[in-house]
Amino acid sequence: MDLVSVWEATANPSKPRSSLEGDHYCDVVVIGAGFTGLSTAYHLQKNNTRTIVLEQSKVGAGGSGRNGGQILTGYLHSMSALVKQKGLDAARQMLQMSLDSIALIESITQENGISCSFQRKGHLAAAYKPSHLEELKKEQQALQRDFNYSVKIVEKRDLPNELKTDFYFGGSIDETSASFHPMNYALGLAEAVENQGGTIFERSPARSIERDAQNRVVVKTEHGRVIANELVIATNAYSGNLHPLISKTIIPVESIMIATEQLPEKLAQSLIPQDRSVYDTKYMLYYFRRTPDNRIAFGGSGRTTGKRDARELFLNLRAGMVKVFPELEKARIEYSWSGKVGFTRERLPYIGKLKDGTHFAYGYAGHGAAMSTLMGKLLAANIRREQRGEGRQNPLEINELRPIPFYSQSSKVVGLMKYYYKFLDYIS
Ligand SMILES: Cc1cc2nc3c(=O)[nH]c(=O)nc-3n(C[C@H](O)[C@H](O)[C@H](O)COP(=O)(O)OP(=O)(O)OC[C@H]3O[C@@H](n4cnc5c(N)ncnc54)[C@H](O)[C@@H]3O)c2cc1C
Repeated sequence: MDLVSVWEATANPSKPRSSLEGDHYCDVVVIGAGFTGLSTAYHLQKNNTRTIVLEQSKVGAGGSGRNGGQILTGYLHSMSALVKQKGLDAARQMLQMSLDSIALIESITQENGISCSFQRKGHLAAAYKPSHLEELKKEQQALQRDFNYSVKIVEKRDLPNELKTDFYFGGSIDETSASFHPMNYALGLAEAVENQGGTIFERSPARSIERDAQNRVVVKTEHGRVIANELVIATNAYSGNLHPLISKTIIPVESIMIATEQLPEKLAQSLIPQDRSVYDTKYMLYYFRRTPDNRIAFGGSGRTTGKRDARELFLNLRAGMVKVFPELEKARIEYSWSGKVGFTRERLPYIGKLKDGTHFAYGYAGHGAAMSTLMGKLLAANIRREQRGEGRQNPLEINELRPIPFYSQSSKVVGLMKYYYKFLDYIS
């Protein structure tokens, strides 16, 4: 799949970047120019740490330039589930991290004049069944009680203020969430890295990683090498087999999106009046929003058991969009695209350093538009602290990666994710 996204088609102009040739030396080499890698480089360069980023394709070519642009608070799991899993103190710290990550994007955007339509209009979690609304109400109470954090419940009768649809049974609103044009943020962040003195090579896939006699890391591409003191792998769901252990700990799951033609402003406004980012509580969820140029961008699962072809998946998604918004029956679909979302065994992000010296952060489970920028900042801080000999502390830190048992990246397993995760929960 991987067709052109609405974000790529409507992106700000970007300058061409060269590919790596010959030997280059720096303090830190970062592999992957998505939000994680770019944010790491940005924060390292801000502290005068010489950084080179290697990108196999172009800036933002992975999940970062092709996502829904929903910058959401929280994680895939509810905060009350995280209290059970991690304890109250850790869960409180994690919620705060997710809020910090949104504030960080806002401040980077402002400080560097990044034109990416960042706006804080909140998100709506739409209840697919009446029982889901009850669960959202319980979560609202837990958030208030344990986190002193407020979200607002919308009953079905009040839903027209939020969505012009009969498809849902109410929902929950979090005003802190935001949205942006994800490709423009990636391009702006890349320019900010370069303005701070960092270097980004495009069309430069890292082929191998070795250590030389002085224990420096040597990353080879087809036509060049980067020799550095530290290595960051920020390849998330696009990791392939670059690092043998990382590839066995990340599950890439295909997600697909469509975007309508530009709609009359009044129509776009009437469908999602408060201009929020929306996702629903279905197992194979839908997520959608208005774009800055008045389209509806609508996403869903691209999971396939191998029986369906891509065209059928996009047609199904379009049919889902029309079920939610019957008024879009005649709207032309101008863009259809796909991408890979990174999941870990716990469906929580990982950040840390392996015994072989590799720093990593990945596996945001559909919440990386927000969290990855903060993770990049934390990776940069970890590297700097290490140079000063200080420890780290953060509930997502993990220093030993456990390969996922019986894991195969074949589409059949991905199609059966629900059962696979039940199995993992059972054996963990
Ligand atoms: C369709 C879709 C919709 C999504 N919607 C949302 C959303 O609305 N909200 C949300 O929070 N999250 C969403 N996500 C997830 C979000 O996009 C990711 O969590 C986030 O972009 C991760 O950023 P990253 O920098 O870690 O990884 P990526 O952006 O994937 O970057 C990894 C980069 O590494 C490069 N790379 C890989 N191997 C090599 C190599 N050997 N050498 C050099 N470079 C290499 C890749 O080309 C890629 O550019 C969505 C994802 C998809 C696919």
